[in-house]
Amino acid sequence: MFTNMDKNDLDAYALKVINRIEIPEDELREMLLITDSTELEKLHYVARKVRDHYFGNKVFLYSFVYFSTHCKNRCAFCYYNTMNKINRYRLELEDIRNICRKLKGEQIHMVDLTMGEDPYFHENPRQFAKVIDIVKEELGLPVMISPGVLDDKTLKMLREHGANFLALYQETYDQELYEKLRVGQSFSDRMHAREFAQTIGYCVEDGLLTGVGNDVESTLISLRSMAKENPQMVRVMTFIPQEGTPLEKKVQESNLSELKIISVLRLMFPDRLIPASLDVEGIEGMVYRLNAGANVVTSIIPSDSPLEGVANYDRKHEERKRDPKSVVEKLRTMGMEPAAQSDFNNLLG
Ligand code: SF4
Repeated sequence: MFTNMDKNDLDAYALKVINRIEIPEDELREMLLITDSTELEKLHYVARKVRDHYFGNKVFLYSFVYFSTHCKNRCAFCYYNTMNKINRYRLELEDIRNICRKLKGEQIHMVDLTMGEDPYFHENPRQFAKVIDIVKEELGLPVMISPGVLDDKTLKMLREHGANFLALYQETYDQELYEKLRVGQSFSDRMHAREFAQTIGYCVEDGLLTGVGNDVESTLISLRSMAKENPQMVRVMTFIPQEGTPLEKKVQESNLSELKIISVLRLMFPDRLIPASLDVEGIEGMVYRLNAGANVVTSIIPSDSPLEGVANYDRKHEERKRDPKSVVEKLRTMGMEPAAQSDFNNLLG
């Protein structure tokens, strides 16, 4: 659709997005079908133009603490699904405190506390609250929780302990695909948790998985459904086959679909947070994702951290370069820089 557009036309298209003129379904479809590299660059150009209108060259950075890799669920795409015979860990509170101390003074805007649906914390939510308390005490930063589906009472209690953001990814709104991915888990309970969280003051993040059996029509269903929920942060990640899982043998797709969807997300959610995860293609992949319109870097971990990521493309790499300094250094080579903490706090409402 961008084939015959010159720079002025692309700028005019970006302006329409900024003026909140809704993009017709057939245009979104055309964007998702792009394969030509010149057209793809034009899509990314428009997405950057829109992002820069709202955020300039400023980027938000989230530190990632995967504090328990135990999980009772059987997500077909996930390394940590309960059927996989792997070594797991659950950090002690003191371990978490030490991680926070290593992060002191680093340029990060929020700490993302992630776990599988670990029965220990789900049955002892007060222990989870203590983890949030430690991050608040040590760093005083906003906290994102990524705990899986929690009941309303627990969400409320954690909010009272200072949790600001709930990350809970649907992965797809194509119900048939959902059942194959999030095996045995309720579609509606997941949606309810995000909706309820928003009513009690959380910001929420929703996310899609691509390269996992979603065609363009399936992706469109997901994007439209996600838009109805009005999340403050929206993500897409490429599926990476994980050893020991039902989808282990599935061939990994290129990053093309993810990069297109990032740009489309930027056009559909112009002023929202859209992450470039270090967990898919590391620091080089971060550059592509920011150039596609992302404005957040996630999965940042201290330089000597042995902690897991979610997709963990670099599980076997010796040097991960996922620490705050490496990220900021790379951002500066792109003419970008970390935003002020106050800018981030303003987004939390
Ligand atoms: S995606 Fe989350 S809920 Fe599903 S198996 Fe993995 S850790 Fe558990």
